[in-house]
Amino acid sequence: MPSRITAKTAVIGLLGSPIRHSRSPVMLNSVYEAMGLDFVYVAFDVGADRAQEAAAAVRTLGLRGANVTMPLKRAILPHLDRLSPAAELAGAVNVIVNDAGALTGHLTDGAGFMASLAEARVHHAGRHMVVLGAGGAGMAVAIQAALDGVGAITVFNRRDAFFDVAQALVTKLQGRVDCPVTLQDLDDRQALGRAIGAADILVNATPIGMDGSEGQMALPDASLLGPQLVVCDLIYVPKETHLLKEAARRGCRTVSGIGMQLYQAVPAFKLWTGHDMDLNVARAALFGGAK
Ligand code: NAP
Repeated sequence: MPSRITAKTAVIGLLGSPIRHSRSPVMLNSVYEAMGLDFVYVAFDVGADRAQEAAAAVRTLGLRGANVTMPLKRAILPHLDRLSPAAELAGAVNVIVNDAGALTGHLTDGAGFMASLAEARVHHAGRHMVVLGAGGAGMAVAIQAALDGVGAITVFNRRDAFFDVAQALVTKLQGRVDCPVTLQDLDDRQALGRAIGAADILVNATPIGMDGSEGQMALPDASLLGPQLVVCDLIYVPKETHLLKEAARRGCRTVSGIGMQLYQAVPAFKLWTGHDMDLNVARAALFGGAK
């Protein structure tokens, strides 16, 4: 069978390390093929020490764009020409778009999460959100939620070496959005109880509950979960974490990380190709058809 790849095929890269486990090439190449788009998606194993060369390669080789994953999400930022508001606020990117040599960095993780809320018909405008974990994904969610009109956000993180970095990000965000955003100590049970008691949406953005820590959750006590809460977990393996099981048992609506995984790819697809991603093909490639 002749290859569909020609001398004109546009190339999208996936930059990061390790990279060989990624499902993104299978998902995106399936969608390009099904939609008849002359694009190919290729993974490149690049460490943080090669961030400058990686950005230069995107320009020199004329890639249309790239996804960026760990450990390059922050390291590549100084080598780009422009940043989206979310990328600038977070100081991290997961998407690069190359317009004739000018590289723009975007951060679509938070938009992917907000789209998964919309798919689950969760209303976010004016609501109070609590985010557990101020890492890359937690801050991307908090930033996009603040930009999209969530009423108030309380982020919790352990008071460890990273806490001051998280505080600096939260302070920067506070100065840029109308939504009040605060950072609190995850080990302060009273503050956690008060915030969750007043919240509408709870988001776990820690890895606690993933494969290897199944049966655990970032909350010290499941009785904090009232039935008014929508409880979301960014984890997508397993599909239903211990937190989501406890939440469902207490009458809460739940949202898993699977929707976020799918929807974070949608804005990048549009930016690179100008087309809306065929979600059915993407879902089938990613999860064997499951939602
Ligand atoms: P990250 O940047 O490493 O951040 C991890 C966060 O969890 C940090 O706030 C960290 O706090 C906290 N944490 C880690 N272990 C903890 C523990 N034992 N107790 C309390 N807090 C702990 O990771 P990330 O990229 O944000 O990813 C976080 C989770 O989101 C992962 O499970 C990842 O798979 C998931 N995720 C899902 C999607 C999706 O598409 N659904 C996308 C991105 C990420 P410290 O600073 O105190 O360690």
